[in-house]
Amino acid sequence: MNSPKPRPGFPARLPAGAPAPVAARPQVAAKLALPVASGVGLDSHAVRQAMVRKLAGQGIGHAEVLAAMGTVERHRFVDSALVNQAYEDTSLPIGLGQTISKPNVVARMLELLCHGRGLPLGRVLEVGTGCGYQAAVMSLLAKEVYSIERLRGLHEKARENLRPLRLPNLHLLLGDGMLGYAPGAPYAGIVAAAGGEAIPTAWTDQLAVGGRLVAPAALQPGRQHLVVIEKTLNGLQQTVLEPVHFVPLKSGVV
Ligand code: SAH
Repeated sequence: MNSPKPRPGFPARLPAGAPAPVAARPQVAAKLALPVASGVGLDSHAVRQAMVRKLAGQGIGHAEVLAAMGTVERHRFVDSALVNQAYEDTSLPIGLGQTISKPNVVARMLELLCHGRGLPLGRVLEVGTGCGYQAAVMSLLAKEVYSIERLRGLHEKARENLRPLRLPNLHLLLGDGMLGYAPGAPYAGIVAAAGGEAIPTAWTDQLAVGGRLVAPAALQPGRQHLVVIEKTLNGLQQTVLEPVHFVPLKSGVV
């Protein structure tokens, strides 16, 4: 993705030229201000702020999403051999055939989740913890985050990656996220990092009225799009957005 492509309009884009914040809320920054791991060999703060400026240039305008992206150290979530690519706008392998989503995709999804709503959101659910990166970003935008992963190896990797960040509002779960996670419902937001052919009904059932779900789905065979569903008093409102490429949503725990 070299140039900012116009994207379908849900929600309406934020005003062009909205300032791109480069610093997180002070309490957030304090919470995550950890020494950079030895051997990383990069000034991660400066590189991350460059990533944030790039995201803003690509059309991400949500101040607190940008601040959260500028705070979480993405290089802590990738293998040491890939650290130098951690702040490039690219997805990277995290093991077991899965990938950490591109920064642009994470920011886009979280902007869709947060747009027009007071922050922090209440309880939110992430389906597909992977390495735990997006869950960490979400923990800065919501009061409580439940993140569920079906692959034990990644669930454990995420636990290790996240341990030093000490995020008490982030709860990692091993399970089949196609079933959602009923004990935490109803959710103000649900975000999926893997896509099936339809949005599982468990997800919309577990969404609060006034809540919003952002997920990839191949509603037409072979053509995955980002889908936003809002739950209102009058029912579900679905908006289909741009084409995307997420790993498949699979059932069962391995
Ligand atoms: N948000 C992650 C992205 C990981 S890729 C990150 O920041 O790294 C998507 C993840 O979804 C994969 O780890 C995959 O195993 C997981 N996944 C796929 N189907 C799932 C399901 N039914 N329940 C839970 N996780 C699932």
